[in-house]
Amino acid sequence: MSKIDSSEIGGDEELDVADACAAVPSGVDRTTESTRSVDLILAAIVSFAPPLAFCLAMWLWYAGVHAPTWIDLFVMLAINFFSLAGVELGFHRLFAHRSYKAHRSIKIALAALGSMGFQGPPIWWASIHRKHHRYSDQPGDPHSMYLYDKDGKFTWRGALHAHIGWVWTGRSVGQGGFARYARDLYLDRDIFWIHMHYFYFLLAGFLIPGIVASLLYGSWEGFAWGILWGGFIRIFFMNHLTFWCINSVTHGVGRRDYDTSDHSTNFAPLALLTLGQSWHNNHHAFPISAVMSHQPWQLDPGAWILHGLRRIGLVTDMNLPTPEAILKKRQAKNNA
Ligand SMILES: [Zn+2]
Ligand SMILES: [Zn+2]
Repeated sequence: MSKIDSSEIGGDEELDVADACAAVPSGVDRTTESTRSVDLILAAIVSFAPPLAFCLAMWLWYAGVHAPTWIDLFVMLAINFFSLAGVELGFHRLFAHRSYKAHRSIKIALAALGSMGFQGPPIWWASIHRKHHRYSDQPGDPHSMYLYDKDGKFTWRGALHAHIGWVWTGRSVGQGGFARYARDLYLDRDIFWIHMHYFYFLLAGFLIPGIVASLLYGSWEGFAWGILWGGFIRIFFMNHLTFWCINSVTHGVGRRDYDTSDHSTNFAPLALLTLGQSWHNNHHAFPISAVMSHQPWQLDPGAWILHGLRRIGLVTDMNLPTPEAILKKRQAKNNA
């Protein structure tokens, strides 16, 4: 596997946000300079609106107003797939870890689609994630569950923090030093532009399923069902199952094939739903690998998509661990 040093993924090098932004076309980074009240409003919306929307949909069904249809489910699954691909293949494997190179059109598409997932703007997401890898399950990790016990043991309070509590925690979401962890991303004009216009893409994540459902239903009423199922309910399932379970479940439940310095695990049941990210112990063992699976039976849809894009020339330079490197790390665990 090719090496990448810490400075290449943000590193310890200090860089003032204003200096970084000066190199790109426009203004102030609103997401970095957001106030605590804005952070709390966003945390409240993403925590409560999706489950309330799900309850509303169930009540509408129970009351005989609207039973979910194949159009609702199609719209929900379709936008879930695309926004999840934007997060996992874009925010995570490409921006945070630079595990492969992509054609500019793919990079822009993934940044835009990922921004529809209500998981935060791309540079914020990548910065938080790089910090997670740097301090994984140690003080400084934005969303570790093991920091509430003096011996680093599991606590339910810690599990709640890892799953969703961290989005309410100022020191996790409002951390300083975004530029320190994502200098390269601030200097990428395309990613920075989408980062600065994040809220428009977030809004598009509601409007697009609304418009598609409206067309498929052939009525304006369909617009509301599209926003309900393709917007809020899609975010409810996507963020709990893919975003937050990676921080909670795959740092606590499952197999550990590698003796990494954190508590990361491989958890097969979430492999398809997370496009392969639930092979999280593999990922912490080889963080800049473009593929998460290390065995033929480990399903990794994200890798399948990247290999497909590589075949048509839109993705190049995929970092892949060699079989020898995998074997060596596995043996190191067995010998420990
Ligand atoms: Zn992790
Ligand atoms: Zn990662």
